[in-house]
Amino acid sequence: MTHQPYLQLRDVRKEFGAFTALSNINLTIEKGEFVCFLGPSGCGKTTLLRIIAGLETPTSGSIAQASADITRLPPAERDYGIVFQSYALFPNLNVSDNVAYGLVNRRVDRTRINQRVAELLKLVGLPGSEGKYPSQLSGGQQQRIALARALATSPGLLLLDEPLSALDALERVRLRQEIRALQQKLGVTTIMVTHDQEEALALADRIVVMNHGVIEQIGSAMDIYREPASPFVADFVGKVNVLPGSLSGQQLSVGTFSVALPQRLTQSEEPSATRAVKVYLRPEDVLARPAGTSTASFAADDPHVFDSVIEKIEFLGSFCHVHVAAFAFAPHKLTVYLSLNFLTEFSLAVGSPLRLKLLPERLRVF
Ligand code: ATP
Repeated sequence: MTHQPYLQLRDVRKEFGAFTALSNINLTIEKGEFVCFLGPSGCGKTTLLRIIAGLETPTSGSIAQASADITRLPPAERDYGIVFQSYALFPNLNVSDNVAYGLVNRRVDRTRINQRVAELLKLVGLPGSEGKYPSQLSGGQQQRIALARALATSPGLLLLDEPLSALDALERVRLRQEIRALQQKLGVTTIMVTHDQEEALALADRIVVMNHGVIEQIGSAMDIYREPASPFVADFVGKVNVLPGSLSGQQLSVGTFSVALPQRLTQSEEPSATRAVKVYLRPEDVLARPAGTSTASFAADDPHVFDSVIEKIEFLGSFCHVHVAAFAFAPHKLTVYLSLNFLTEFSLAVGSPLRLKLLPERLRVF
């Protein structure tokens, strides 16, 4: 990937009447990047994609693509291909004519069109399907054809608006892997809108997390997951335990539990004041061992160690969501992830004692 800005959004704002759908959107996307717009329903991600496509006009702000200002350019004059959520193929045209649509408009000659269609159908894994009609194809196949159509003119930018959300779980994972492989092979700068955090984490070079029309955070999957910039991001991406606590300097107290936090987690304008905080802790950042004095257990005098009792086990296959009551955090409960092998190895069940250990550097405090 070369590091050059390909798409630049500056201070983009969109109002629908009195309602502000987007404000203060500043974003630079590099050539060849795969970026996901992630956020809950109504956060403005589709509106932002439509503005980039020229299907909506921003109230203010500017958009540049490949160094040219495209803010007021009509869609037909822009350089992108787009795939929508529902299969937007023309039902009365066969696969070949659907894929060729943009090429015919550009008056490419017929032999070249046929070659290009065959090439694209091979690329999306459906060679030889030229003569079929959309109604003869599965949802996943229709989306592959829509992808071939979007890529037909070799656009500089590929826009994907929830392209997988109408598919079943298996097909969704299969097609998302294919899209990623195809995107990397072609090197096409890609933006995908999704409300599915797993999809964004699995696919994107960078994720733009949106909420209520603003960008909450931009970062790699790892940044977003490990270093969430706000409670919203911590909550929306991945599972998290939220506990009320108080912070005094570096010292964090939650219930009767007290731990010194690494300095970078506790920056404050008034470091000496005691503040009420919310402590965010991922289930996998709590380590578990059987309780007791055996060598398999954690040392009870470790300041990061505390005891709990298993209250509920949610079986999810190879690993389980285990809900525990920790005396130090009462009445607040914690969820931890434990492997099925671990539970069977130590004969753990509801009511079993469990010794837990926090990783202080993994706590997030807001
Ligand atoms: P979803 O995943 O549900 O599509 P989204 O994050 O993509 O959500 P948008 O479709 O961008 O959300 O909509 C953002 C907000 O702007 C919503 O509150 C929506 O009701 C509003 N909105 C979108 N288009 C219009 C419009 N043409 N007129 C009025 N309000 C609109």
